[in-house]
Amino acid sequence: MRRPAIFWRFKALSPVKYALGALVLGAFGGLVQAADYSGPLFDAHLHYNEEAWNGQAGPHPLEDVLARMQRNGVQAIVANSRPNDGTKALAEAREQTRVAGVTVVPFIRLYRNRADYNNWFQDESIYAMVQAEFARGTAAGPYRGIGEFHLYDSANANGPVAKKLMQFAEQNGLAVLAHVDDVAIDLLLAHAPKARLIWAHTGIGGTPMARVEALLAKYPQLMGELSYRPGLTCDEGQLCPEWRALLLKYPTRFLIGSDTWVNQRWLYYDDLMRGYRRWLGDLPPAVARRIAWDNGAALFLTPKP
Ligand SMILES: [Zn+2]
Repeated sequence: MRRPAIFWRFKALSPVKYALGALVLGAFGGLVQAADYSGPLFDAHLHYNEEAWNGQAGPHPLEDVLARMQRNGVQAIVANSRPNDGTKALAEAREQTRVAGVTVVPFIRLYRNRADYNNWFQDESIYAMVQAEFARGTAAGPYRGIGEFHLYDSANANGPVAKKLMQFAEQNGLAVLAHVDDVAIDLLLAHAPKARLIWAHTGIGGTPMARVEALLAKYPQLMGELSYRPGLTCDEGQLCPEWRALLLKYPTRFLIGSDTWVNQRWLYYDDLMRGYRRWLGDLPPAVARRIAWDNGAALFLTPKP
């Protein structure tokens, strides 16, 4: 994420509100509130950016972020950062991540600094940087993806470096975490039809449900990550009916993520994960577990052939 105030709507409900909601439903609706999902979580959209740790400690040193993951049952993360040093720090902390029970799945971020957000799709030096990073790998193993990247104008999906990076990802079995609109999904996958694209926020601009569904049907390798997705949850943090139906129709195609793009998201990490557990509890247990954990594990935790 890298957008201002309008996206700050995602607020987890307080435990008191949950309890009241459950009581009201129980007393007057004859319904019993589903229990929250209690299994493992795979955080498939995590940033450990420079300002979180400042290259050494910062407000959220490794001990802090790993403790947040551990106490929330987050057992694997897609790690990426601006610049890539944060990801490398997580990857190199082998003993600390082992003790915390967190598997680090490293992605190559395209951004060395904030200026790169707006020009990466035509900057050859970024393509060279990605190739060098990929060749180098990390202490936690090879990189497994690229991104998150942004396209504020979907036409830039046809930028020369965007095209080359999609093809590089396809050729090397790298997933692509993309914060883009629905038009750019088509454009990016035209460059590399077999690439594994993870649609960050699954249409943060409010892509209509029918369009989301059509893209999932059209591209079997397209996955949807659900942070900041407008319209996902309704009253009391429960799934809205349309989204519940889509998740049930495509249970193998969705992932959850924290999107710790600014430090405030680290402060609210517990609330974010509690919010996910709340609506995951609205789904049949096997579907909840798929979205919470199994889909990420199937993509990244099984050994590559
Ligand atoms: Zn993000």
